[in-house]
Amino acid sequence: MVMSEIFGSMVFNDAVMRERLPESTYNEFKECCEKDRPLSLEVANVIAGAMKDWAVEKGVTHFTHWFQPMTGLSAEKHDSFITPDGNGGVIMEFNGKELIKGEPDASSFPSGGLRATFEARGYTAWDPTSYAFIKDATLCIPTAFCSYNGHALDKKTPLLRSMEAVSKQAVRLLRLFGRKTEKVLSSVGPEQEYFLIDTGAFLKRRDLIFTGRTLFGAKPPKGQELEDHYFGAIKPRVAAFMRDLDEELWKLGVLAKTKHNEVAPAQHEIAPIYTTVNVATDQNQMTMEIMKKVAARHGMTCLLHEKPFAGVNGSGKHNNWSLTTNFGHNLFEPGKSPADNAQFLLIMAAMIAAVDKHQDLLRISVASAGNDHRLGANEAPPAIVSIFLGDELTGILQAIADGRTYSKRADCEVEIGVHVLPKFPMDTTDRNRTSPLAFTGNKFEFRMLGSAFSIAGPNTVLNTIIADEFSDFADELEKADDQKACIQDIIRRVMKEHGRIIFNGNNYSDEWVREAKKRGLYNLPTTMDCLAYLDSPENIALFEKHGVYSAEEIRARKEIQIENYSKLITIEADTMIDMASKDILPAVTTYEKEIAGTVKALAAAGVDAASHAELLAKLEALYADAAAKLAALREAVGKARREKTVERYGKACRDKVIPAMNALRKVADEMETLTAKKYWPFPTYDDLLFSVN
Ligand code: ADP
Ligand code: MG
Repeated sequence: MVMSEIFGSMVFNDAVMRERLPESTYNEFKECCEKDRPLSLEVANVIAGAMKDWAVEKGVTHFTHWFQPMTGLSAEKHDSFITPDGNGGVIMEFNGKELIKGEPDASSFPSGGLRATFEARGYTAWDPTSYAFIKDATLCIPTAFCSYNGHALDKKTPLLRSMEAVSKQAVRLLRLFGRKTEKVLSSVGPEQEYFLIDTGAFLKRRDLIFTGRTLFGAKPPKGQELEDHYFGAIKPRVAAFMRDLDEELWKLGVLAKTKHNEVAPAQHEIAPIYTTVNVATDQNQMTMEIMKKVAARHGMTCLLHEKPFAGVNGSGKHNNWSLTTNFGHNLFEPGKSPADNAQFLLIMAAMIAAVDKHQDLLRISVASAGNDHRLGANEAPPAIVSIFLGDELTGILQAIADGRTYSKRADCEVEIGVHVLPKFPMDTTDRNRTSPLAFTGNKFEFRMLGSAFSIAGPNTVLNTIIADEFSDFADELEKADDQKACIQDIIRRVMKEHGRIIFNGNNYSDEWVREAKKRGLYNLPTTMDCLAYLDSPENIALFEKHGVYSAEEIRARKEIQIENYSKLITIEADTMIDMASKDILPAVTTYEKEIAGTVKALAAAGVDAASHAELLAKLEALYADAAAKLAALREAVGKARREKTVERYGKACRDKVIPAMNALRKVADEMETLTAKKYWPFPTYDDLLFSVN
């Protein structure tokens, strides 16, 4: 295997374009991408032709506009290149129009009422900043998906708009520092966690098949207590999967490194090298899809759910985010000169203010039924948003705010724009791993994302909230006579008004929950709690100001998210009902019958059968309890379903259905611990978690 032959071999990337396009077309294309200008049809035609020839040489016959509807998955509709040649034969054709715009009949994608069914056809538009690629012998063209009146129906469109917003405002701010920046790009490197289990075991669990997580299951004798899995030796079957996965991803130009084992048994992580957020989002979607496919080839199933197993660490996604100018200068990199440092500190202040003002949006951006199991469960950051800067940087900002010298280091006076900042340690030793949003030297690591998420939403929010702060700062600085004094003022004000969002301690502790409450920070534990804030007047104003979402788009998204939540919980509840009534209760009945027979036989033989009788009585009591809990769950789901509004349905799921599910599970899991293994109707936690070797 020659890496240089594999890497990017299935991508119509810059090198391929340079090689295959006429120079003038290539230059025109590059310029359009850099300046966010639309392509002319002539140029698109030339590119389409070259793309088709390249793909056909690789055995491709079909193309698809590949997009990310609001389901959070990716969608594609395949068309073939084949066109009749007029002489009874066919030719392979693909033109600029087909490249730039597609019209999938997409009426069954969620639109939250944005697209009336009589005009069900939305359109897809090529995103030339994300390369086309070949997957399953199909040329995939990354596209945005909109309704005919221009409403975004996908996750890419708002993300692209947010990239434009942050670039525009960052450029404004940087110009005030005398920089000639033309564009600022947001980049991200997502670390992706996942579980691998044996497909044989997976297929015996209807809960895993229908919902991606186990709805029943007692704690195994061995879980993650020993922490022997973390960075432990990788099992041969998993290692083979990882090698295959890397290769598949490299072909698609994803710079992936399948890495170490994670904390939980059967849990692993993969991370690519960071790239611009729209490309990283596309690549992460592909990665998730390919992980499942490659796992299947190895007889394994890849679980991307946030919490496949209760009592075992769930899976998240760490979103490492930064902003870089077209000259390659990372805005979160502390500078080497006093002037650079004034800019750096101002940008840090922007982040502090943005995060504090928009805690609700950050929380919403990571909200899902699956992620509700993690946030605040002592394995992931809590549902409370805060920011970690480290003691050093916090101390410096505080010193500036207080108008005093930074005392931790005598040699370090921090007057804005006068002194060089001390070097911040870039090493990982003192990094706070419990913070939801941590400054890690030259990027912010947003750690609240669930493993199954599209990273589009969280990055749309990060880009927008910092764009808004940059915009406010630029407004103020443009008017200021004394720039240095103005920066000092801004930092002082930000630390005073928003310093409460900084927390460098242990975010998993109960003290933090109390402390956060004292500081007046939001604590929105569930999806339904936080979604209530999505369409607040402030949030609508923010998104409209920066052209990221219109008010209608926000309301539609809120509705879709609540609807998804309710549907998901209902499917989970129905699956539980099904498994309890058809599998678990009958299994317990059979086991009870055997014990009852034993009691009888022992008594007949004149042997004391007290302990058997006791077990039987215990099981029967649990059975009765389970039957009652099952009936209660049935009623709760029925009632929730009959609610008249989406919102009330969602709340009924949160307040009635989930507690009823938990109650049923508790009894069922207890029965599992008392029932002989051969009677239990499906693989247990130890079967699942230790199914791969
Ligand atoms: P961790 O120590 O949290 O496990 P990793 O080294 O596994 O971190 O992953 C860090 C991720 O952050 C990688 O995807 C990496 O490419 C990305 N990253 C590194 N520097 C930057 C940056 N300046 N901007 C965005 N992402 C970055
Ligand atoms: Mg990380």
